[in-house]
Order: sequence, then C-alpha cells, then structure tokens
Amino acid sequence: VISKLPQTGTTIFTVMSALAAEVGAINLSQGFPDYDSSPELITLVSKAMQKGYNQYAPMPGLMALREQIAIKTEKLYGAVYNPDTEITVTAGATQAIFTAISAVIHPNDEVIIFEPAYDCYAPAIKLMGGVVKSLELDPPDYRIAWDMVKRLINGKTKMIILNSPHNPTATILSKEDIDELSALIKHQDILILSDEVYEHLIYDGEEHQSMARYPELQQRSFIVSSFGKTFHATGWKMGYCLAPAYLMAEFRKIHQFLVFSVNTPMQVAIAEYLKDENTYLSLPGFFQQKRDYFREGLAGSRFKLLPCAGSYFQSVTYDAITDEKDADYAIRLTKEIGVASIPVSAFYRKGNDKHVLRFCFAKRQETIDKAVDRLLKV
Ligand code: PMP
Ligand code: GLN
Repeated sequence: VISKLPQTGTTIFTVMSALAAEVGAINLSQGFPDYDSSPELITLVSKAMQKGYNQYAPMPGLMALREQIAIKTEKLYGAVYNPDTEITVTAGATQAIFTAISAVIHPNDEVIIFEPAYDCYAPAIKLMGGVVKSLELDPPDYRIAWDMVKRLINGKTKMIILNSPHNPTATILSKEDIDELSALIKHQDILILSDEVYEHLIYDGEEHQSMARYPELQQRSFIVSSFGKTFHATGWKMGYCLAPAYLMAEFRKIHQFLVFSVNTPMQVAIAEYLKDENTYLSLPGFFQQKRDYFREGLAGSRFKLLPCAGSYFQSVTYDAITDEKDADYAIRLTKEIGVASIPVSAFYRKGNDKHVLRFCFAKRQETIDKAVDRLLKV
C-alpha cells in the first residue's frame, strides 16, 4: 500500500511505556495515574451495567450526561451550550480532536499548531489533505509570540489549534494571550480547536482560560475535554466536544460514522458523578500537592526544573548532566536508572532537541519517592 502517513511511526507513549515495562522501570512517561479512579465512580459504572444500560447510547451521547456537561460548563465559564445541538460525548478527547479536524479541514487548508504539540494533531490534519503550519516555542517559558502567529496567517488559514494547560510544556494561556488571539482573528474566517483536557489541572490559583469564557472565540471553537484525565480513568476513553450548533452539526456527521456512539454504562455513571462539583473542583489542590512534592524532591538533583502551571507533567532540562540527545538520554535513564520519561523532541515534527524530558507526576506518593530517589543519584 502507499502509506497515508509515511513519516509516522509508533507513538512515543507506546514506545516508552513498552520500554519501561520491559526493563521494569518506574513509568513516568505516558500520562496516566498509577492509582485507581474513585471507588464511587466505579460502583456507579457497575450498577449501570447491572441495571441494563448495556445497549447503544444515542448518537450524540446520553442526554443526562450532556445536561451535566452543560451545567458544569456554564458554572465554570459562563457559557450556555445547548445539550441537544452543541454537546457530543466522544471516545476520549482523541476521537473528538480527529472528528473536529475531519469535519472542517479540506485539502490545502492550513492549520496553525504550536510545537511542541500533542502528537495527534498533525496526522489528522495531514489525513484530511490539510497543511500543518507550526510555530516553534522554546523553553523555559514557551511563550507564544503572537506577532509570529500573525505572519503565519493568510487566506488559506482555516484553523488554529490551542492546548491549555499544555502538554508537554505545562504552560497555560493567559488573559493577555486571549486578547492577542482575539485581536488577531477578529476579522478572519478562522476556526479554533481548543484542547482543554487538562482544564481542571491548573495551579497556584490561576484561572483556566477556556475559549468558552469569550463569546467571540466560543462562537468559532470546538472545545474538547477528557473524562479520562478528569476522573483518573484514562483507560475508559471518555470525553466530549462542545461547539456552536453550526459546527456541531458537521462534527456529528463524522462522529456518527466513526463511532456512532460511545460506552453507555460509563455515560450513565459519569452523569451521576458530575452532579457533585467537588469531583472536579478538588483536582487543582490534589494535583498541586503532587506537583510540589515532585518538584521539592528534584530540587536537590542535577536536573533543572522548568515551570509547571498546569497539566500533570513536569519538564526538566539536563545540561549539567550530559549533552546526549533527549531521545537517547530518556532511553538510557529508563534502562540504567529505572525511571521512564518522554523526550520532548517527540512533540516537534522535526524532532527539535532542546534537551528536555517530561515526567508525569500523577502518581502515588511512594512512586514519586522511589523515582525521586533514583533521579537524585544521577
Ligand atoms: N490532548 C492532550 C493534550 C492529551 O494530553 C491527551 C492525552 N490524554 C489527549 C488529548 C487525549 O485524551 P483522551 O485520552 O481522552 O483521548
Ligand atoms: N496524553 C498522554 C500523554 O501525553 C498519552 C496518551 C496516549 O498514550 N496516547 O502522555
């Protein structure tokens, strides 16, 4: 066959998790918790199954869940989404992202992404015949220079993909970023795909700058989120997409043929669980404690900590230790020290190596202790 993605290999998450398992390393590479989701939520799922919620859900998702998503979104960001026409439950954020891109990107449309970028954006754009235009961001603070974004915009620009809190850099968009973005696209026909899977993982009292807060941006945005991230259940692959009705109508045309609908009993359970806002409002405190604990542990090491304003990732540079490429060093650390990380060069299409490794701190205290112990010996 002629490959549709000739440059694409196996994702770095698969590669590093497999290596960690093979050599028995502590796996701080792929982003997932090593503790369980809430017993209450798990009980709700098994109860839903026992009650017979085991057949197809409606194509856009169970109304009870869409209603709870609407309530949460209005409460947090002040935006009113109609559950009937503007909210769709998806098989994780990944499916929502792919679906949104397929719904609106035509051959030769240009899409702006910021690199390092989460790895599923560019392949989806390319599969639709779109053209990826990227702006490279640099450590330590990975700030977006909006005048550079302006230079990338032309008549073919169809979409900008944003991700805040950001994977892998742990940065967040500020109100100033939002103002710059708004000014930039005010008179342009440009859509936004806003990957907000870490919306609840934001620290130091900062406010998540959801596109839903800003009516002019909200009107042109697909916003995606992930219950996998929010409820410590990445293996459930549950998420959702919010978009104004004119965009959601196109989204659903694809969604109905990609998956039709997603897991019914988990939708029943999550709808019930979301009624208690503490299930997500407690997350910043919960993860900030882990972030601080991991950072304090590494403070005496030879790794240099980059800022972490959100997400459950902590990046480090290691110039005081070695001048190896990040990909080589990540493998060596896994094999020799027994701690797996993600080399951030994997998030640049050209593999730009800025000597940055990403560690996931969504782990039990004892796991963090063990990992820190080993990293202090480096
Ligand atoms: N976007 C980002 C930035 C992510 O880190 C992830 C990984 N969880 C996803 C999307 C995909 O989320 P899901 O597991 O819900 O498909
Ligand atoms: N989002 C997770 C991460 O960044 C990985 C999800 C996946 O393996 N696709 O580590």
